[in-house]
Amino acid sequence: MKLGFEESQAIYDSGSQNAQALTEHWLHTTAFCPGCGHSNLSRFPNNSPVADFFCSACGEQFELKSQKTKFGAKIVDGAYHTMIERLNGPDNPNLLLMNYERDSGVANLIVVPKQFFAPEIIEERKPLSKNARRAGWVGCNILFRQIPESGKIFIVKDRVPQSPASVREQWRRNLFLREEPTGARGWLLTVMKCVELLGKAEFSLDEVYASEAYIRRIYPENRHIREKIRQQLQVLRDAGFLDFLGRGRYRLRK
Ligand SMILES: [Zn+2]
Repeated sequence: MKLGFEESQAIYDSGSQNAQALTEHWLHTTAFCPGCGHSNLSRFPNNSPVADFFCSACGEQFELKSQKTKFGAKIVDGAYHTMIERLNGPDNPNLLLMNYERDSGVANLIVVPKQFFAPEIIEERKPLSKNARRAGWVGCNILFRQIPESGKIFIVKDRVPQSPASVREQWRRNLFLREEPTGARGWLLTVMKCVELLGKAEFSLDEVYASEAYIRRIYPENRHIREKIRQQLQVLRDAGFLDFLGRGRYRLRK
């Protein structure tokens, strides 16, 4: 996989519009589909309402966001209500996040599969002030840090292209989340995140309970957090994400 951009520096220098054209062209000609490994992603016509790219082999849709700096804790996105509606609709795209460097091209390319989006990770922003051109308009942030690491699949990491087979394996491992209704998915993602934060292949229920304070910040009204944790661990077991070892101990599946 060639990471550099094809076009001349002169075009690159002439503005963000062209930077977008370069990153989109790179994706179209160089990236593979993380879902099925197909060697080409097709572009939707410009200004399609939702997605930018699709795979002609498996039909997965992708939205691309690219920027020079690495993505931080939050990613600014469009209108809040449109985003929430999209989460419940059938055509919510997977998200591709690219960060690139001026001379050397793509530094990181991450795909966040669409099932990692739940209302809990969409933050409503303050309405634009009455002096703004679009007064009252409400945008949103994607709370990127809150997404489980298993939902951040690197296609290029620190300028190293990852193997299509390992990308597809990580993709496959998380497909069970698509079976969960959008409303229930937030809890599951939250508990996955807590389990990952332990950083261990084997852990105890008490260790997961230790995340109660973190979870309470997301669900301040909930009075049954421990019960919900146990329930989500069962769903994760049934999905083959982890195994119960007995006596309140668990092991992540490889
Ligand atoms: Zn595909």
